Amino acid sequence: MAAADAIEAPPALKARFNKLGLTRKSDLVLHLPLRYEDETQLTTIAAAGNAGPVQLEVRVREVSVQFRPRRQLLAWVADGSGEIALRFLNFYGSQTRQFERARDEQQRLRVFGEIRPGFLGDEMVHPRYRLVREGEPLPASLTPVYPTTAGVSQAVLRKHIAAALAGADLSELLDEAWRRERGFPPFDKAVRLLHAPPPGVPESALQSRQHPAWRRIKFDELLAQQLSLRRAYLSRRQRGAPRIAPAGVLSRRLLASLPFALTAAQRRVAAEIAADLAQPYPMQRLLQGDVGSGKTIVAALAACQAIEAGYQAAFMAPTEILAEQHYLKLRAWLEPLGVEVAWLAGSQKKAAKRAARQQVANSAQLAVGTHALIQERVDFARLGLAIVDEQHRFGVAQRLELRRKGGNAAEPPHQLMMSATPIPRTLAMSYYADLDVSVLDELPPGRSPVRTRLFSEARRGELIERIRGAVDAGRQVYWVCPLIEESEKLQLQTALDTHATLSEELAGLRVGLVHGRLKSGEKAATMAAFAAGGIDVLVATTVIEVGVDVPNASLMVIEHAERFGLAQLHQLRGRVGRGPEASACVLLYQLPLSLLARERLKIIFEQSDGFEIARQDLRLRGPGEFVGSRQSGLPLLRYADLETDAELIAPAREMAERLLREAPARAARHLARWLGSREELLKA
Ligand code: ADP
Ligand code: MG
Repeated sequence: MAAADAIEAPPALKARFNKLGLTRKSDLVLHLPLRYEDETQLTTIAAAGNAGPVQLEVRVREVSVQFRPRRQLLAWVADGSGEIALRFLNFYGSQTRQFERARDEQQRLRVFGEIRPGFLGDEMVHPRYRLVREGEPLPASLTPVYPTTAGVSQAVLRKHIAAALAGADLSELLDEAWRRERGFPPFDKAVRLLHAPPPGVPESALQSRQHPAWRRIKFDELLAQQLSLRRAYLSRRQRGAPRIAPAGVLSRRLLASLPFALTAAQRRVAAEIAADLAQPYPMQRLLQGDVGSGKTIVAALAACQAIEAGYQAAFMAPTEILAEQHYLKLRAWLEPLGVEVAWLAGSQKKAAKRAARQQVANSAQLAVGTHALIQERVDFARLGLAIVDEQHRFGVAQRLELRRKGGNAAEPPHQLMMSATPIPRTLAMSYYADLDVSVLDELPPGRSPVRTRLFSEARRGELIERIRGAVDAGRQVYWVCPLIEESEKLQLQTALDTHATLSEELAGLRVGLVHGRLKSGEKAATMAAFAAGGIDVLVATTVIEVGVDVPNASLMVIEHAERFGLAQLHQLRGRVGRGPEASACVLLYQLPLSLLARERLKIIFEQSDGFEIARQDLRLRGPGEFVGSRQSGLPLLRYADLETDAELIAPAREMAERLLREAPARAARHLARWLGSREELLKA
């Protein structure tokens, strides 16, 4: 940090500023008001009513400290139109003396707050107030209210921000002509206006953050985000990676052996990946496709490229059930073509694990597994491509680890990340701007849409009959146990109880159970039995949430659906509707429903498109949950809102590319202004 930019304040205050993320004057400049209070107008007590905050100018009649029901300071004040009480439950002795002094003829008190009916008549509790001389003019502009923390008053913030505005670098970093064309005010004008709106600026445009000054700031914030992500993207391109461009014999043989033809979307995406693999820098591609869109075969084709070119591919999945399913599928596809496939999972016996590690270090061409793949003692001979399924389930650290497995630090492997939790477009364009994105926007033909039904618990009996009906017709059923997030033990108990109850209610049917605590062999055996039709009804916890693929299962019941998140419900529902049979998903809910739960159930009932569901989810929850640990160093956006400011993202992206190309020094200054020292974290 340039010394001139350091905040000047006593150490204790500096520490509190730090808590607010304020270390430099430029941070103070960008510490913008949460809202404004209008102290430019006075109301009389008689006219004030009880609606919203008002400002009164009053004289103090009487002051007293009372002790019942608890210690409090009371001041009776009047303005000629009426009288109210001011009540302070926390106060200093100095305040009492101040009010005493205010009883002087020439003194007036300006109080700002809401009038409420109280025990002693109308009152204001803890109003903001200021002592003024009679006739002192009102402030001409709105009063900013800043986000703050204990021990930092609004007055202190205002003082330091005003000083920062006078001393910090507020120079314009955008191209002048472009800025005008867009209708953005200059940077210094925008921040000054937001900190101290001049008279006449409509309060509503400030509060709604649609004023051009706010839009300028939001644009700048998005620009900083784009700049830092684009820079990370470009610096990755400086690194080398194996060029993988074989003739494509192996993938053609795989395609020829499949019972289906690729969809147009699959062909397009496979080509995008193949083009990336042929580049001398590492691919960082996110493959998005709704549940059932057929991502696995696309990944297998990418693996074929690497293998044919003499490299290894790794395929990592977040749960053992899913990893094993991939292993079985990939082996069935690739072994007949002469590819050696290894399996590595945490639950393997020591000897098996050792053998698998040996294989990975030597002959294996494809390694499939859980995060066991990235454990320390696994050394790939020549990893060329790392595939991560359901990438959002992994932390950043784990994905970095896989990248490091390249063996040759100068040539990290290409990375293909896959996700069925669709990332809304605005989010993909902002937080994920350092990745290339491919989208499978087409489902394979012959799928029947899943009908979604909402049943209250009261109709459980009816549901049991439906299940019998489905099994009689030769179909299979998932029953998803209620989610108990607080306790794994309780979750397990619930699964056992549900299994016991359903086994009774469905006497005569084969009811199986799978949950996270089963030994992996047992889990695999149960899943295999279900896939082979040996189990009619599979009671399961969310271990089946991702990836599981049993086309003959056509009915899913989700118990206590109101407890699940939208993404989870969509994933679970995606386990049915994988075959030609008409499928249904019954969401069993228990009343009373919270507002949020009601809204989620409505969305999942009405929508089947994963992208639309994700968009709604983003609206309900904000980006924090989506982004999660993905960008540990990247601060969430403070001012821009991906929903309401979506149209600023594309221009920010264009401007970022242009600045990096044409004016890298200005780009660096913009980043420093917005991210300061945090930017260092992002280069990691
Ligand atoms: P997801 O994208 O959810 O991972 P999968 O890769 O598991 O989807 O594919 C879902 C099912 O669709 C699998 O049974 C798969 O074999 C099948 N499938 C994939 N592509 C096609 C296609 N082009 N035509 C028909 N079936 C396909
Ligand atoms: Mg999948």
